[in-house]
Amino acid sequence: MNGPSLRRLKLYAAGRLKLKRYLAHCGDGRAQPRLPARALVWAMLAGQFLRQTAFHAVEAIARSARLRKTGIERRFSDDTLDYFSERADPAPTRQALIDVLHRAKRNKTFQDSPSIGLAVDGTTVGRCSEQRCRWCRPYRNEKKQIVGYRHQLAMVSVVGSGITLPFDVEPYGPKDSEYAAGQRLLRRVVPTLGARFADYVVVDAGFATNTFLHVCDELGLPVVARLKDNLPELSTAVEKRFSTQRPHRVFKDGNSRIEIWDAEDFDPWETLRWETVRVLRYRQQNPDGTVVQADWFTNFSKRKVVSLALYRMAKSRWEIENQGFNDCKSYQGLEHICHHHPNSLLLGWLLTLLALVISRLYRLRYLHRGTHKVISACQFVRLLWLNLGAPIPRESG
Ligand SMILES: [Zn+2]
Repeated sequence: MNGPSLRRLKLYAAGRLKLKRYLAHCGDGRAQPRLPARALVWAMLAGQFLRQTAFHAVEAIARSARLRKTGIERRFSDDTLDYFSERADPAPTRQALIDVLHRAKRNKTFQDSPSIGLAVDGTTVGRCSEQRCRWCRPYRNEKKQIVGYRHQLAMVSVVGSGITLPFDVEPYGPKDSEYAAGQRLLRRVVPTLGARFADYVVVDAGFATNTFLHVCDELGLPVVARLKDNLPELSTAVEKRFSTQRPHRVFKDGNSRIEIWDAEDFDPWETLRWETVRVLRYRQQNPDGTVVQADWFTNFSKRKVVSLALYRMAKSRWEIENQGFNDCKSYQGLEHICHHHPNSLLLGWLLTLLALVISRLYRLRYLHRGTHKVISACQFVRLLWLNLGAPIPRESG
């Protein structure tokens, strides 16, 4: 098998993932472009694959003597990406991500998983000292004084399917909220994905309110949500019942012992339009002696989803934290502001996700086909650099 290279990755994206049309028509908004948009969008993706995401670093790669090997068609100068990204329409990139998920499903990428989940959550990126775009949100110290600004967004990811694929973001500005952005995000992606693409939505307690739950009902998706004190009536009823009962089930998950309590006849709170609420509590005893306990609620019946499957759905929420936010921030430069312009930021965030999705499908599914071993993300990046015949920058991990 030939090792990974940027050129092979480009062939894979254009051919197997059928992104050829997108790469040629990625939403260029420039009036009189001198350089084709396809060269610039591939350069931004290549920067992501190489973990060199700052615009000046991408421009340096495009100026290098090894241009042919990168799959970038043309050299370009400083500020080219600023100008391009300010004007590019983000819609084709959003659609390309949805198209790749459909293609992945058709290619049986998720076939070993009993269900597919969508995790929605918010995060903070791009801190700065001055308010410079409509998404800059002030943050304050304990005395309520503004000490800086930052950008916040809601993200949605495929989870619980053996491969984590974050695929859209919805930024929100000063007079908006994570909670409202999360709803807009779901309303946008679920109809485009198709109601039958995913089996459930999984969210943290911040989203566990009736408005959000009713949006999921409307979209035809069952919800698995963390239960905390923000729903005091239900929390109290759950504690009263489960704390006096022995666990309903006990099993091993790796080296941890898991105790489960699971009941589906809790009363919905007054404004929730559900007939009944099912609550699952797990208590996880780890080999190092630590104990983690968490409550989750859902509108899945026990007949439809057994306790163990529901436990796994609840746990799948961690994927958006670990393989979503953490990977995007630690390795893909999600926190870095390449160019402080709202459209440029949005395009950059979406291309981060597109690069992550392409490289994960390539590394974990395509290269791993047959008897080939899985290579780690770090090894993969190293092989891309080696193929370019260039020294590996220290910060690329
Ligand atoms: Zn800003």
